[in-house]
Parts: sequence; C-alpha cells; structure tokens
Amino acid sequence: QNAVQFRQLEVWFQPVVRLSDDQPIALEALARWRHPTLGDIAPGRFIPLAEAHGQIQAVGAFVVAAAADAVKSVRTSTALAMRSVTVSVNVSSHELIDEGFATRFIDRMAAADARPQWFALEVTEASLHGVGSIAHRNLVTLADAGVTIAVDDFGTGTSSLERLVEHRVGRLKIDRRFVAGVATDERTRRLVAAMLAIASDLKLEVVAEGVEQQEQAAALRELGCAAAQGYLFAPAVPTTELVSVLADLRRA
Ligand code: C2E
Ligand code: MG
Ligand code: MG
Repeated sequence: QNAVQFRQLEVWFQPVVRLSDDQPIALEALARWRHPTLGDIAPGRFIPLAEAHGQIQAVGAFVVAAAADAVKSVRTSTALAMRSVTVSVNVSSHELIDEGFATRFIDRMAAADARPQWFALEVTEASLHGVGSIAHRNLVTLADAGVTIAVDDFGTGTSSLERLVEHRVGRLKIDRRFVAGVATDERTRRLVAAMLAIASDLKLEVVAEGVEQQEQAAALRELGCAAAQGYLFAPAVPTTELVSVLADLRRA
C-alpha cells in the first residue's frame, strides 16, 4: 500500500522542447509506481489512492527531491551544456489546500540545494477550480519565491482568466486533446490559436502536451506555439536514461 516506504515509487522525466529548433529546454517529473506483483500502476490510478490514504505528501516530497537531483545533474553536465534547464512537478489539489504546502516546498528545494527559479509547479485546470484562499496563498508564496505556476490540461476545465491572473499563473499547458486535432480539424486549430493569443496577451509561457506527429508539431509551430512535449520528441524516461535521451535531442 505504501509505495514510498517500500521503494516502489520512481520518478521519470519527459523532456520539453522548444519548437523553433526542437532543442530540449525543460523536464517534467512524472511519478511511476512499479509494483512487484501488480506491475506498473499509472499515476492516474495511484495518485487518487495516495490522496485517499494520506500518502500524497510523502509522494510529493519524494518527487520534489528527485526533481531537484535531476535538474541539478542536467545543469551541471558539461556534455549536455543545458545550464538553464528547468523542471516541473505536478501537484494535486489535496496538497495545495494544505496550509504548510508552500513553505515545505520551499524548504525542500533549499534542502536539496536547488533554486526556486529552476522549478515549475503544475496544477490541473480542473483542480484549480474552486480552490479557496489557502491554495491561493500557497500559489502566491511560491510565485513570490520564484517558482513558475503552470496550469496543466488547459482548455479542459472551467477556469476564469481572472482567477489565473490572481493565482499568479505564468504558464499554460495546452491539453493533448487540442493537440490531437490541431493539424486536422479547423475548429480545434482555431481553439488553439485563441489559447495562444490569450497566453501572448497575458504574457504567459505555453507548452503543448501530447505531440505525437510531425504534422501536429508543424501546425503548432505555424500558430506560434513556443514549446511542446510528447512521444514525437521523447517519452518520460527513468533518470538512468535521462542524459542520453537529452544528448540525442541535442544532436538532432
Ligand atoms: P500530466 O501532468 O498532464 O502529464 C502528461 C501525461 O501524458 C503523462 O502521463 C505522460 O506520460 C503522457 N504523455 C506524454 N507525452 C504523450 C504523448 O505524446 N501522447 C500521449 N497519449 N500521452 C503522452 P502519466 O505519466 O501517466 O501521468 C498522468 C497524470 O498523472 C499527469 O498528467 C498528472 O496529472 C498526474 N501525475 C503524474 N505524476 C504526478 C505526481 O508526481 N503528482 C501528482 N499529483 N500527479 C501526478
Ligand atoms: Mg503535468
Ligand atoms: Mg496534462
């Protein structure tokens, strides 16, 4: 039941690339539960379990520590020359509504000898909806410390733009359902164009999620989307493979 305690939890990393030249610029930390008898359990299944069993804080702490290690090792790799790489971690609303979340997060980065400017915090648009003042204060505290606040799965929830600004959001991650249709469906292409216009007007960074095909990357480039991640570039990989995957992307 307790994946952290039994050392079955791993953190894998998916590169984010800049669409102008396909070079890797960031990493997203994605939790993996490798159960000895049940096999790999997807985060979509075990994160809700961790929340229900009071384990989400332990999972979050583990992910932040692993993310700090990964971003430091990539930054200091002379072979990669990626000294400005950043890393994002996903958090659930259960963590965000906890009074001490932001200060613990800041303490953990300091304990790992990592700077807040190297981190982004991903919160899904759905989980941001309706959160109260504690979550709001956590986001403001982290933004003030230098952490980028990113809205995950953007376009699928019902966030008010006013709220996004209030919550100090600095990055939108366009959900992969829009990416799936961006090259083939005119209506979807226009929705993505509208999201990019909002991001540009509000001076937010954008990352398109789930890019699987060249045609999708080309359509996003044409619309002016700056960054993307997806199987077309690289899947999430364990830390043992991270440097070689990034080196391949650097060579390409
Ligand atoms: P997310 O943050 O939106 O992460 C993107 C998901 O899409 C990841 O699935 C990733 O492996 C997958 N993906 C990446 N590229 C592609 C692609 O080209 N095509 C397709 N079809 N999928 C792609 P994953 O790792 O299964 O994670 C699912 C969700 O679980 C994440 O969605 C995130 O919301 C949550 N999650 C993952 N790790 C954590 C964590 O440490 N803490 C919390 N609270 N949530 C996490
Ligand atoms: Mg995410
Ligand atoms: Mg997403």
